[in-house]
Amino acid sequence: MQIIEIYKSLQGESSYAGMPCVFVRLAGCNLRCVWCDSEYTFTGGTRMTLDEVQQEVCRLSPDGGLVEITGGEPMLQEREVVPLMEALHAAGYTVLLETSGERPLEAVPAEVVKIVDVKCPDSGEGDTFGMENLRCLRAHDEVKFVIASRRDYLFARDFTRSHGLAAKVACVIFSPAFRKDAAGKRDASHCLVDPQDLAEWMLEDGVHARLGLQIHKFIWEPSTKGV
Ligand code: SF4
Repeated sequence: MQIIEIYKSLQGESSYAGMPCVFVRLAGCNLRCVWCDSEYTFTGGTRMTLDEVQQEVCRLSPDGGLVEITGGEPMLQEREVVPLMEALHAAGYTVLLETSGERPLEAVPAEVVKIVDVKCPDSGEGDTFGMENLRCLRAHDEVKFVIASRRDYLFARDFTRSHGLAAKVACVIFSPAFRKDAAGKRDASHCLVDPQDLAEWMLEDGVHARLGLQIHKFIWEPSTKGV
């Protein structure tokens, strides 16, 4: 499979935020979100076998723990990435898969925790989520909305309600989008939606979701890669 990088850091998002995690970042994405901070994944990378990836994960985290398969869009390499997820689970890791849900998710092993990033309108990639993937969601999965505007918030609120997401998955997360050129100060001034506004909208509407901040952007300088 085509790999951009494998590294150990803290999980920055999801209900696993703050926990040590090995990230396996695959190359290639078929979307072009306007605020994407991972454009360096669109091309290039190194060809690695399943065994080579597993050995590197094991070197970085020999005692098990969390591994996140991310990208880019990892499900573009479904034929290679599904056996990799199976192998990592069999080796004792808790495997997370970060995906936009644009590709079919039915082949994802049941034990893998899917973190599905449903694109909102102001990402420029709204309406790309494959609605048939709602049937693949399991109780341990998570659905995330990256929110850049009030319009995105209303989309996320209505999608969450109309599909009963809170009862389907472990966690629904509303996360303010970060400016892709953010640099310098590690604070909320880089968010495209003020977290205070988002919090107040969520409280006002009683949405069954959690507000998520990308904590790696507050821990490390926001333009830092590989964290
Ligand atoms: S799906 Fe992810 S990697 Fe692809 S363009 Fe959007 S944010 Fe970037």
